[in-house]
Amino acid sequence: MAEELTPMMKHYLQTKEDNKDCIIFYRLGDFYEMFFEDAKVVSKELELTLTGKACGLAERAPMCGIPYHSADVYLNKLVANGHKVAICEQVEDPKTAKGMVKREVVRVVTPGTNLNITALDETKNNYLMCIVCVEDLFGIATVDVSTGDFFVTQVDTKRKLIDEINKFVPSEIICNDSFLISGVDIADLRERLNIVVSAIDSWYFGNETVQETLLDHFKVKSLEGLGLGDYDAGSVSAGAILKYLYETQKNSLANILTIQPYSIGKYMIIDSSTRRNLELVETLREKQKRGSLLWVLDKTKTAMGARLLRNYVEQPLIEKDEILKRQDFIEDLNNHAITREELREYLNPIYDLERLITRISYQTANPRDLIAFKNSLKMLPPIFAQLNDLSCEFVEEIKANFDCLTDLYDLLDKSINEEPPISTKDGDIIKDGFNEVVDKLRRAKTEGKQWLADLETEEKEKTGIKNLKIKYNKVFGYYLEVTNSYKELVPDYYTRKQTLTNAERYITPKLKELEEMILGSEDKLVSLEYDLFKQTRDTISSNIARIQTTAKAIAKLDVFVSLATVAEKNNYCRPTINTDGILDIKAGRHPVVEKMIKNDMFISNDTYLDNNKNRVSIITGPNMAGKSTYMRQSAIIVLMAQIGSYVPATSANIGIVDRIFTRVGASDDLASGQSTFMVEMNEVANILRSATSKSLLILDEIGRGTSTFDGLSIAWAVVEHISNPNILGAKTLFATHYHELTELEGKIASVNNYCIAVKEKGDDIVFLRKIVKGGADKSYGIQVAKLAGVPNSVIERAKEIVEELTQNDITETVKSITVDIPARKVKKEKAPKKLDDVDANQISLFDAFNNMTNNSSNEIVDEIKSLDISNMTPLEALNKLYDLQAKL
Ligand code: ADP
Repeated sequence: MAEELTPMMKHYLQTKEDNKDCIIFYRLGDFYEMFFEDAKVVSKELELTLTGKACGLAERAPMCGIPYHSADVYLNKLVANGHKVAICEQVEDPKTAKGMVKREVVRVVTPGTNLNITALDETKNNYLMCIVCVEDLFGIATVDVSTGDFFVTQVDTKRKLIDEINKFVPSEIICNDSFLISGVDIADLRERLNIVVSAIDSWYFGNETVQETLLDHFKVKSLEGLGLGDYDAGSVSAGAILKYLYETQKNSLANILTIQPYSIGKYMIIDSSTRRNLELVETLREKQKRGSLLWVLDKTKTAMGARLLRNYVEQPLIEKDEILKRQDFIEDLNNHAITREELREYLNPIYDLERLITRISYQTANPRDLIAFKNSLKMLPPIFAQLNDLSCEFVEEIKANFDCLTDLYDLLDKSINEEPPISTKDGDIIKDGFNEVVDKLRRAKTEGKQWLADLETEEKEKTGIKNLKIKYNKVFGYYLEVTNSYKELVPDYYTRKQTLTNAERYITPKLKELEEMILGSEDKLVSLEYDLFKQTRDTISSNIARIQTTAKAIAKLDVFVSLATVAEKNNYCRPTINTDGILDIKAGRHPVVEKMIKNDMFISNDTYLDNNKNRVSIITGPNMAGKSTYMRQSAIIVLMAQIGSYVPATSANIGIVDRIFTRVGASDDLASGQSTFMVEMNEVANILRSATSKSLLILDEIGRGTSTFDGLSIAWAVVEHISNPNILGAKTLFATHYHELTELEGKIASVNNYCIAVKEKGDDIVFLRKIVKGGADKSYGIQVAKLAGVPNSVIERAKEIVEELTQNDITETVKSITVDIPARKVKKEKAPKKLDDVDANQISLFDAFNNMTNNSSNEIVDEIKSLDISNMTPLEALNKLYDLQAKL
């Protein structure tokens, strides 16, 4: 480090060195300053003026600053842009410091650890995830510091890892170096999911560090004691994430009390494209909650409930008993509608207890937070009383974990003023009667005023100055003011302090004596109130475990009251749950589309699938008929049932599925640069490899992205593959434009045709939206085009062309294809090591040449072989291609 640097600059540079990946907010007086590269970056991003500071070197150090009292806004913006910010504070009072004021980094704020309420969405968790890649396992630890939730698991494939990332959608991922080169598409995580991904130093993952951190934090003797016995890789990520939190938060992390290891086998598996396609928590295009399943289901009253419901929607169950337990709760609530409504009322005023208690334990809660907390606690006893009307197993569990926290309510009710200031340093926080000394000092304050009034009267009488007034200002404190007309009456013992145009100001020894008492009491009172406030906050904080348990109970209650309300309001039914693979929905509706359509115009439809004669439904019908709505509604009803919710149908018998896969239009993948067809085939490949006989598949127009023959052949082969119990045998809804596929109904026993009915009305069509048995005989593409407003001349010409084309019907060929069903179980093929290695274009070119037999083609091959490609310009290459094509 350059010798000539000022001491402050040396300290700054050392701080920067210790926190290399952070922007340093360096506190200088009333500002946080940034220097050098940080200053350049921040001034640009936050549009601040870039100045300079003398630093001892010839050139001034680039600098920009923000006032500390409005720092949050700037900080949140930088963190939201993906930066890490280290806050370097003055840790001693500049007034008393000898030499340079001591400064230290007190906190590092990162996207996954930002606790600032204005930066957080209260209906969403803000997760930090730690991924460690060890050999062929991925350990995954996920923490929400703002609520104290801490989950750990491990998985053995990249795909499962991606599923977990998509489930939590953390705002920040920290990882070891191996993860960055594990083949996971990091750019996609960064760009599409907006996650800040960074590798942290390898020592975080060292065995000893990990063990020590976990055992110390949870005060246990072994990892088994934490339930981590079976999670080797998971434990490494859990230890590393805790260590990272200690390093960034620099406090005791007192709100992280439990760790929850979970096995991914406990939940339905939903891959990322299915999550998006089914629009579980946000819409596909606008990425907003309105229009998603969560939007329909979420009638929660508290932030905690909203977050938990989101988690439920993100991870449906696969255990029948757990699903039934949730259903029982909804039923119980709907059998006691008055109780349910009362509960809603009482839940309404409850604040975000989980985030409040975090602020309380991190000592950042202000007096108003404590009042919000108290007002929430007030609701607990009446809520608990309502629970006595209910009797299901779930309610019993909630009751067992429900603590009315009356002692804490009483404490706050006695100690904190109903309408305190936000600031902790201005007094007016503590209630009268809570503390004797406070009361006494307050009396001194009010009686002091009386003393001053008495003195004023006394002096008036003594001197005869009728308009004598005792006043106060910051410079002189209390003084006596005499207007010029009475100047002659001023006695000797008055000391003049100031002369104004029409008056003079005096003090007396008696007045100064009173002042000392009055003003002294103010200071003492403020500091005592601050101490008492802190004590109260600490008492609440030491009860964190009780509060967190109750907060969780409230969240669950809120979720079920919401599900029950939605079920009743929207006329949902309680589905029967089976494990026999039967899916039988009577008069099902799409929960979101039915809300979007006016005047209850939604047409309900049945769905029936089983493991026998009804495994695959081929669904045909014109565009806009409602095929995709129908298929999605069936999948969403299954998903809702496995969440434990009631479903939009008159009755339903739902066979539990282990996974739901959807393959629908690829419009949102175009940005990734792959061709639509390649994306489609990638997804099909994934589905065919990962699905099991217990999965539900929704396939919409497979094979559309290529020529008709190729597309039809692929679609055909896919149906053969999935319908065959010896190969896959998964329940499937398969919408297609290829009417030829309806031929499969007769050829494969488990395949059935359905179509969405339309009515012809002269030259036009009317959509009936009703699903009926049988295949559609026409595609009505031209009629739909007409409905969409395509010009009449084009429509008429299209009719002529279609007339000619249909004379060369391919249906006859298709009819002659036989389907050969292997009698024995066929082993699933393994995925190629790396899908990307297979270049689709190369394969087809190669095959095309191999299949060429005529002479002209051989000539062409020879000609291509002889080309000196590296010495050709693009234009020459293009011209050559034209020549070659002409020869074919
Ligand atoms: P397709 O997949 O056959 O092209 P969609 O499922 O996209 O058709 O449906 C097109 C539109 O028709 C939807 O946006 C919706 O507004 C309406 N629709 C679909 N199904 C129904 C239904 N059952 N009842 C009423 N309207 C429906």
